Amino acid sequence: MNLHEYQAKEYFETYDLPVSRRSIIKKSSDIDEAIESIDFSNGCVAKVQSHTGGRGKVGGVKLCKSKLEVEEFVEQWLGKKIVTIQTDSGGLPVNIISLEELTNIDKELYMSFVVDRGEKCVSMIVSEAGGMNIEEVAEKTPEKILKAKLNSDYLIEEKEIKALANSLNFDSEQTDQFSKIVLGCAKLFKDKDLSLLEINPLVIKTDGNLHCLDAKINVDENALYRQEDLLDKRDPTQEDQREYEAKENDLSYVSLDGNIGCMVNGAGLAMGTMDTIKLYDGEPANFLDVGGTATKERVSKAFKLILSDQNVKGILINIFGGIVRCDLIAQGIIDAIRERSVSVPIVVRLQGNKSEEGKSILNDSGLNLIGEDSLQEASKKIVELVK
Ligand code: GDP
Ligand code: MN
Repeated sequence: MNLHEYQAKEYFETYDLPVSRRSIIKKSSDIDEAIESIDFSNGCVAKVQSHTGGRGKVGGVKLCKSKLEVEEFVEQWLGKKIVTIQTDSGGLPVNIISLEELTNIDKELYMSFVVDRGEKCVSMIVSEAGGMNIEEVAEKTPEKILKAKLNSDYLIEEKEIKALANSLNFDSEQTDQFSKIVLGCAKLFKDKDLSLLEINPLVIKTDGNLHCLDAKINVDENALYRQEDLLDKRDPTQEDQREYEAKENDLSYVSLDGNIGCMVNGAGLAMGTMDTIKLYDGEPANFLDVGGTATKERVSKAFKLILSDQNVKGILINIFGGIVRCDLIAQGIIDAIRERSVSVPIVVRLQGNKSEEGKSILNDSGLNLIGEDSLQEASKKIVELVK
């Protein structure tokens, strides 16, 4: 789960990490109060709050010298969508704008904390090349990327922090500030079960002090059950609507680019089904695991979810009845199809617990369903039908 920059900065403040004072605009009538509540003597930076970086490049971060410029920025963005290199072509809605006090920048650095699967730890990455695409820096000038591993207490030893500060040419005061920022971020990362914390850019201000100019936080969703204060920070408008709806219904769903909708029980079988579709030159429209205890209701919800994707030209249902009963699944499929007018072809493979009963329910339904017994045949068939 992602947080907005302004929410991330609220956590930064709690952990004594230096961020700019800011105020939030949700409707144009908020502008006056927002300007009054910050030091606007040198103007401010207006920032679109959407779950994406790369805002600066498309005008979503702008230095505003006057109230008029703020009004123009709000007019330009609020209620619109922002498309960046990190979003898809549809972009993300802009419902919030943050006004920040202006920071005078000397240099932009990069800092992040990530779950490092290769090293089996959390790693900190810092670079003197901040403010830009870090993947590009890593590719073109890998020597500019410095890395340190956090130990199992989420700490980095003082002497290692000092060595990094040295490489970044910090003076002694900056080194102290750097150390505080590193340890504060590490503690925040641990306390809040984050999977990513990124400050790009971490800046050296013209007065020499370090400052977190941007803030990105990803939270490990599996830990949300013990992070109650984070729960109400979720912004569904920033998530794929189908993926969000799926989560609400306890279904694992991931949108993909293809045209064959997949409904499968079990993540492994779902992966296998997608592979088999690909083997026959088809393209799955989604990953969907209705779960090992798929009920009629959940199948019905899953069905609606798949059909709400305009790209879907056919559906492959692949259910193995271990705990679930295929006859119940079959009834769920029929109910869902009857609830909406489905025009795309549907291939169904039911195997296992009560599969024969399931198949006859489907056959007797009078609906245009194609039954197949093997996954290969079923996949081949649906690929043929969508062509
Ligand atoms: P992003 O493009 O979505 O990553 O948004 P950022 O918050 O990183 O802002 C993009 C860029 O805007 C930064 O790299 C800075 O160069 C610039 N910027 C943001 N805030 C300020 C500020 O307070 N003062 C100045 N001078 N530049 C800023
Ligand atoms: Mn940034």
